[in-house]
Amino acid sequence: MASSRKKLSEYHRKRTPDATNEPFGDEAPIDAAQKALTGAYVIQLHDATRRHYDVRLETSGVLVSFAVPRGPSLNPADKHLAVKTEDHPIEYLEFEDVIPEKQYGAGPMIVWDRGMATYLEGPLEDEIAAGKIHVELTGMKLRGRWTFVKLKKSAKGDEWLFFKKQDEHADAQRNIVEALPRSILSGLTVEEIERAAEIAAEHEKRALDVGAARLRKRDFTLSPIASGRPDDDDGFVFDPELDGIRVLAIRDGDVVTIRRGDENIETFYPDVVRALRSLPVSRAVFDGELVAFDPAGRPSLPLLASRAARIKKGDTFRATVEIPVSLVATDLLALGDADTRTLPLVKRRELLGRLVPSLGYLKTSEPLEGDLGVVLSSCAALGISGVVAKKKEEPYGRGFVHVSSGIAPRDRIAVDHGAADARSAIRKVAVSNRTKIFWPDEKLTKGDLIDFYAGIADTILPHIANRPVILVRYPDGIDGKSFYQWNVPPGMPAWVRTMSLTDEEGASKRGFLVDDASTLVYIANLGCIPIHILASRFPDLEHSEFFTIDFDIKQSTLANAVTLATTLKELLDTIGLRGFPKTSGQTGLHVLVPLGKGQTFDTARALADLLGQLLVARHPKIATMERVVSKRGPKVYVDTGQTGATRAIVAPYSVRATKDARVSTPLSWDEVEPDLDPGAFTIRTVPARIASIGDPMRPMLDEQPDVARAVAELAEIVRPA
Ligand code: MN
Repeated sequence: MASSRKKLSEYHRKRTPDATNEPFGDEAPIDAAQKALTGAYVIQLHDATRRHYDVRLETSGVLVSFAVPRGPSLNPADKHLAVKTEDHPIEYLEFEDVIPEKQYGAGPMIVWDRGMATYLEGPLEDEIAAGKIHVELTGMKLRGRWTFVKLKKSAKGDEWLFFKKQDEHADAQRNIVEALPRSILSGLTVEEIERAAEIAAEHEKRALDVGAARLRKRDFTLSPIASGRPDDDDGFVFDPELDGIRVLAIRDGDVVTIRRGDENIETFYPDVVRALRSLPVSRAVFDGELVAFDPAGRPSLPLLASRAARIKKGDTFRATVEIPVSLVATDLLALGDADTRTLPLVKRRELLGRLVPSLGYLKTSEPLEGDLGVVLSSCAALGISGVVAKKKEEPYGRGFVHVSSGIAPRDRIAVDHGAADARSAIRKVAVSNRTKIFWPDEKLTKGDLIDFYAGIADTILPHIANRPVILVRYPDGIDGKSFYQWNVPPGMPAWVRTMSLTDEEGASKRGFLVDDASTLVYIANLGCIPIHILASRFPDLEHSEFFTIDFDIKQSTLANAVTLATTLKELLDTIGLRGFPKTSGQTGLHVLVPLGKGQTFDTARALADLLGQLLVARHPKIATMERVVSKRGPKVYVDTGQTGATRAIVAPYSVRATKDARVSTPLSWDEVEPDLDPGAFTIRTVPARIASIGDPMRPMLDEQPDVARAVAELAEIVRPA
């Protein structure tokens, strides 16, 4: 088996993981699809140095990629050059963004088409080896049979010709790349994606300009639909009934919720979630219908039901490739900070039509107008069981009436998403490359990292739940490239919650909310070794639940740090606070001091600084708070700078990227003594330690100290005699 390093090594070599926003993932776990006759495909329009289309075909855990300068043509006479490029990670299937300047491939890229590829003459690997790929594409835009033929005498590189085979989808007249220029995720063109922020502001302004209120109440519910017949035909538009399920879809930042009644079902619709997250506006709320389409393009409830059943069994990736689902949006309840519910329907539809494309995983269509009788008879002729008549001038929540066309509804079968616990059970993470070596000296693998976090989930989760977590990824282990994950990783499951943070320099960062074992496994599978947390809890990011004093011994000894930590404990005892020590996971010690609820970061920082100064005053020979490293001398650096609204510290039980796979391990105070060995706490030893002594830091979470009294007592100590 070719190793992942081999397959994606060229991809990884060309890119700088902390500078590019492209996925930096591994080869995906090879499943039954290895050497299969079907797979996913994507075509991206990439406006790099030279504009081109990237055609990517899934095979054995990666995407085989071709750069096609002129893109696909429906005319079989057009034989377009396709240059085979390096394999890309599977997450690239949904990559759409602007690759930053100076990076490899800098420039905007949209997902122009996606779908399923069926190989007609053997698995893709064999077809590539033979120099000819015969494939049938079933996508949002492309259909029918296509061919790649390798050029025998190619001037440079791996050159192929890509063209349409003659079939009922061939069309010598229609220029499909010009006719359908938009992304099937965001609905933006490749030009527009560079000014997405501006476009978002335009959408919101348009809503406010036509009379939308500022959004205050966020209790969104679907409008009721009466049944019967509207009293008059005037003033109505008509949405044909689709064989799908009606949902309320809410995008709020990176968090997408899809509600059907009181069930949250977004986990079943990662394709729709991805499209909602790609919209230029950071908030939008839709009334719409989830619809699976059969090969002829007709809505099919049985297909939707069978997809849900497959996903319930854990087959999410294949099911979404083989049975794509679109959200057909028919109404807009909110747009950015505008509450559109009070606007008349015609205005809401106008805003909706400008925001949502007519093709893609999120789409909309114009409602029908005219005489109801005519509308109903044409619906009946098409096998459509009815329409929802909607009064043009009514606000959202009023004026919806279902009218039957007289024919029986097709296929009224139930689409079952299971009970809530069954729904959370499908939060299974497909773990990739378990055997990849992460710690060469210790021969520990990525699988060992994942097992460590999964095994101690109950112990670490109380410390990190609802605290924004900053990810540092080491996809190739401690000796490979590492980087902060500042954006949403492509392929991020719908149930992973993230939030935007702005640091002191105004830079935008991303916090992940790691509240359950699945999310913990998900981030470990991204190669996240250390877990850094903020001292606040979401959504109240203004208050600090603890402060940290870090004893950094790079220029001193652990024995000195122990002396200082012990003095700190005495000081804390005096002022009525309680400190909780842990190893830093490298060489030093951390003491975390809980403050309970409602304390500002200013208070927390002031306490930390004062205590630090007292420690230095009492132990001037071994302690310093000097920021300039060269001026510190052979002393313990008492670092109080890790307390602040956007300052992250290494979480209790976080693994570190040290040679020996150390863990930042909570200690009881009687373990804080000069012969303490931080190297004794590693991913091999910590699980047994937890099993035997529990978590010495757990009481920290329930502390409610009298902070005002502590501040007063400390002032008393500091006051010169
Ligand atoms: Mn490209």
